[in-house]
Amino acid sequence: MGKYKEILKELNDNNVGLVLVSKTKPKEVIEDFYNLGQKDFGENRVQELVSKYEVLPKDIKWHHIGHLQKNKVKYIAPFIHLIHAVDDIKLLKEINKRAIQNNRILDVLLQIKIAKEDSKFGLSKDDCIALIDEYEISKMENIRIRGLMGMATFTYDMEIVREEFKKLKEFFNFLKDKYFKDEELFSEISMGMSGDYQIAIEEGATMVRIGTLILGNR
Ligand SMILES: *Cc1c(COP(=O)(O)O)cnc(C)c1O
Repeated sequence: MGKYKEILKELNDNNVGLVLVSKTKPKEVIEDFYNLGQKDFGENRVQELVSKYEVLPKDIKWHHIGHLQKNKVKYIAPFIHLIHAVDDIKLLKEINKRAIQNNRILDVLLQIKIAKEDSKFGLSKDDCIALIDEYEISKMENIRIRGLMGMATFTYDMEIVREEFKKLKEFFNFLKDKYFKDEELFSEISMGMSGDYQIAIEEGATMVRIGTLILGNR
């Protein structure tokens, strides 16, 4: 809890939001942090997310943070607060369809590939631009693109991490200027995890996704 308060203060001072990544942790752990005032929690497995949603307070803001399979969107569409990792137009179309069915507007971030490793999911810049073009043409009115998400290379070399975060911020600025100039809603950059969140803050993150540093090893 001490670590949580310390990190929260640091984030508050910089106007950065905390998504507390609770994947694999039992619901009691989430309740403890909820009782301290934490409302935003991140999960990457749909089944786990749904079962936690069902038993925990309904004002929790649930974030889906990892790769999302198209056929699972329907399970989270009724309640999800933000989907962080859209990297495919077909996925976006499915989210729009399920949003309509649930009579909701769904907020998403586009995941951009910034890391060197090719194991990571995410859109290249060109693919991201193509996706936004198609999004505009096909008028997905139940989707709001709120910004970008990225994951840096898993390395101890913090200069590499910093460069990758810088690239994400620059690309965000480019998109903002070209496509979302008049849309205040395009305003979020989700980057930074336990090992690199301080660099992410320095490079312009608006929200960080932290698990182990606060909750211990999974
Ligand atoms: C697990 C996970 C995190 C949190 O990682 P920690 O190293 O535990 O802080 C952040 N983002 C995504 C996409 C994750 O899957």
